[in-house]
Amino acid sequence: MMDSTNSMGNAVELYFVRTLDGETTAGVRHPKGIAVAVIGDGRTIAHEVLHDCGLEDIYIADGQGNPLLEQVSEQSIPADWGGGYYNPWVLQHGLIKRLVMCSRLDPDEIAGTDLPSGNVRGWHHEWLSGEAPIILGPAKVGQSSITRTPGSY
Ligand SMILES: [Zn+2]
Repeated sequence: MMDSTNSMGNAVELYFVRTLDGETTAGVRHPKGIAVAVIGDGRTIAHEVLHDCGLEDIYIADGQGNPLLEQVSEQSIPADWGGGYYNPWVLQHGLIKRLVMCSRLDPDEIAGTDLPSGNVRGWHHEWLSGEAPIILGPAKVGQSSITRTPGSY
């Protein structure tokens, strides 16, 4: 990719490319802009722009593929709990799949587009100095975690 960022940070630069990282990656965010591959779509752009706003990926399972099989509860979506909005048979991993910040393990899986109000319990990376282990807890995937306007620098 050519380094031609010129927005001075007040606009998001999008680069549409044929492939990224061996054809399974739909999009990637970098401080200089967002690249979207042919396999990407509008949801990919939204996902990457929301990363630029400060949101993080959430995963349905840990690194060993163990999905979150607990039922959705107020404790798992405290800012979005509607007292029964979610059907009682919805499990947490099913709810996470609906989220725009859900990072898919299988690129053929249907991607969600929901943007919750607040944090959602799920697997996410804990960014430490030089490492990013995957942990279970409240992931910053909602509107309350948007900390900045997107831009390319
Ligand atoms: Zn992501």
